[in-house]
Amino acid sequence: MQKIKRRIYLDHAATTYLDDKVVKAMAPYWTKEFGNPSSLYSDGANAKKAIESARARIAKVLNAKSSEIIFTAGGTESVNLAIFGVVRNHLAHNKNKPHIICSAIEHHAVLESFAALKGEGVEVTIVPVGQDGLVKAFDIAKAIRRNTVLVSVMYANNEIGTIQPIAEISKTIKKINPKILFHSDACQAAGALPLDVNKLGVDLLTINGSKIYGPKQIGLLYIRQGLQLKPIIYGGGQENSLRSGTENVPAIIGFAEALEIAEKNIQKENKRLTVLRDYFIKQAFKTIPNLVLNGDAIKRLANNINFSVLDAEGEALMLYLDAKGIEISTGSACTSTSMDASHVITAIGRSETDAKSAIRISLGRQTTKQDLDFTLKTMIPIIKQLRTVSQL
Ligand SMILES: *Cc1c(COP(=O)(O)O)cnc(C)c1O
Repeated sequence: MQKIKRRIYLDHAATTYLDDKVVKAMAPYWTKEFGNPSSLYSDGANAKKAIESARARIAKVLNAKSSEIIFTAGGTESVNLAIFGVVRNHLAHNKNKPHIICSAIEHHAVLESFAALKGEGVEVTIVPVGQDGLVKAFDIAKAIRRNTVLVSVMYANNEIGTIQPIAEISKTIKKINPKILFHSDACQAAGALPLDVNKLGVDLLTINGSKIYGPKQIGLLYIRQGLQLKPIIYGGGQENSLRSGTENVPAIIGFAEALEIAEKNIQKENKRLTVLRDYFIKQAFKTIPNLVLNGDAIKRLANNINFSVLDAEGEALMLYLDAKGIEISTGSACTSTSMDASHVITAIGRSETDAKSAIRISLGRQTTKQDLDFTLKTMIPIIKQLRTVSQL
């Protein structure tokens, strides 16, 4: 993998660089193998064969059937297809108003889809999480109504890295009403956690390429066999009529390659990252007073660190670190244009002020202990200065 120079990149939860092998696998499909998979002559057939082979490779990782995988243009689109697809299909066949449930710490892709449907008259429940950032299956159960059609709970949170008990939530839902569909946004889980859709008990699962050292604007929705969904994009009928538009052949090939590589290294990389993560957390607590770790310390992604640096503004800290060549985040990249406090950090019971003091450091394949030592050394005086200023 090409070494990223000059910068220390610690925002892998936002997106990742491409694996060299992914670049290599994609390259022919931009040039020689440019055919449209829907064309019936040889070039088209070759492209079709390539995407079907990629689909089969991905299906294997998910322990799913090829026919259950729909390619989309990213995580956001997959989430939209899952939620709108289920609700619109219900409305097409039923007279009663549907009810849908999600957790309070979902990605904006889920929350905004829910908000849009609420605006259209759909009943919506947002289930709170504990101070540990974990969704309780019991709380989901309590929210279920007679007209509940869909529950959406993310596998791992993008800001605080907490890992949700997906299999347990699935069992709980299905015991109450096996007809309720269960979707999980697994964009942060791919490459870090097991993705067997049968063990997880999900009916719908979202993954994207950009968090797993694959290309951006490619994603998939796993749709359990037999489920009916309405499309959100209409046209030529590609992807089993659920996602019209010429397939992004190079991105699909890159996505399959990236997922296989991530899957192969999952245990080794998790072990390495857990050591680095816990080292950084320990050193940070030792050297910086008034830090709060956001999210459960154990049930969290191996690459995720999220602190509230009390009495310092996260955004200012992020910008000062950037000036020193270190790239971290204040929360999710999607909220970086708004000054609102993170809905995730407030959902775990922190005040608006403490939420605005949150920083996320997310480690990746190129992160070393030296990077983390340098980051901590650089952070200490900046935090001291920010705290002095905040007291004036
Ligand atoms: C990144 C991310 C998304 C959005 O995926 P895009 O490919 O950027 O559209 C959705 N959910 C989670 C949890 C994510 O981390």
